[in-house]
Amino acid sequence: MTSDKKITRKKIKSAVAASKFMADYYHELNAASERGTPQIAWCTSVGPAEILRAMGYLVYFPETHSAMLGATRMATELIPEANALGYSPDICSYLTADIGAFLKGVTPLAKIYEGINGIPKPDVLVFNTNQCRDVQDWFSWYGEKFNVPVLGVYTHRNVGDVSNALVSSIAEQMKALAGSLEEISGRRLDLDRLKEVVKLSRECSDLWKQVLQTAASRPSPITFFDATTLMGPAVVGRGTPKAVAIYKGLLSELEERIRNAESSIDDERFRIYWEGMPVWGRLRAHFELFAALNANVLASTYCNSWIFSRLNPEDLFNSMAEAYTELFIVRSDEAKEKYIKDMLDFYDIDGIIYHDAKTCPNNSNCRYGMPQRLEKQTGIPSLTIHGDLNDLRLVSDEQTKTNVEAFIEQLEEAKG
Ligand code: SF4
Repeated sequence: MTSDKKITRKKIKSAVAASKFMADYYHELNAASERGTPQIAWCTSVGPAEILRAMGYLVYFPETHSAMLGATRMATELIPEANALGYSPDICSYLTADIGAFLKGVTPLAKIYEGINGIPKPDVLVFNTNQCRDVQDWFSWYGEKFNVPVLGVYTHRNVGDVSNALVSSIAEQMKALAGSLEEISGRRLDLDRLKEVVKLSRECSDLWKQVLQTAASRPSPITFFDATTLMGPAVVGRGTPKAVAIYKGLLSELEERIRNAESSIDDERFRIYWEGMPVWGRLRAHFELFAALNANVLASTYCNSWIFSRLNPEDLFNSMAEAYTELFIVRSDEAKEKYIKDMLDFYDIDGIIYHDAKTCPNNSNCRYGMPQRLEKQTGIPSLTIHGDLNDLRLVSDEQTKTNVEAFIEQLEEAKG
């Protein structure tokens, strides 16, 4: 079996609106940064964005910037700049690429958006260690550079059941964070405004979930690779009405595709689940590799990370604490395995790809026997590909191609 056939990517019309959303978002941040108002808070991708937005900050997410460094293939040559400062090549390549870009004075924003020459300057930086410790180091470095406060929520990791004790400890930290932000900004947190933002965030999350769940249809109207770019507004715009509007439009387009039995790839024969981070600099190549083999990579843990179903405007701090603690990345292997099994069932999956991303152990779940355990329990085979989210020196295209082709052949044989 070879993957040499010509593949065209089927365009999703709503991607235009999503791109416009992102352009407007970065232009608004750029204008605020130049004017010095409104104030800007940097936030980790699954950090307490709702509190920041409700306090009147514009919110910037360095991880999204770093993913852009990866997707534009700028990251690889910027990473050594941060290594030279003592940040190991083995740690998060979002961190090293982003700091490297700052040191070199470059940004993909300048390439993509006219009139933007740099990243927005922070007035405060806020992280949550729910995803990893790297974000704390990353934000602390910038805090020193810009001489602005760095605040954090410290979440327990490897969580089994999300207990009440755990939720209340995080909720207390979030309240304390709001208090510190009030002191720093001189503004009060308006709880009615926070209610509104949490409500919008929940709405955005519900719609994003429905969008991703359309992939359960056969054939799937959306691929994982589509979702990695369409998720931008869910990450940076949660808590805003504009993000809600984007996903209403996208959902109705995908529902129409389902009604017309329109597939996101030609002749979907194998349904694949992606576990781990995307290889940002290889999105198109990986889409083509799988699509040429009639394999649709249609669902992932990664894109589900911006589903916050626990958010509840009637129980603000507890629900935010719960939503940001019940995330897959925070959980124990046992909880993760149950989650993946549910996904395999829901999406009717034939095979799993685990991406072992060298610089992100937090999103690489194949290192302690999980693939073998899950295969034993479900009978669904898997393949681990070795690579990285941003550092393309760690990616072997030939190896990936050979292994994926052999894996799909194995699935073919299993189907008889
Ligand atoms: S979760 Fe992984 S990719 Fe994300 S910031 Fe942490 S180490 Fe980096």
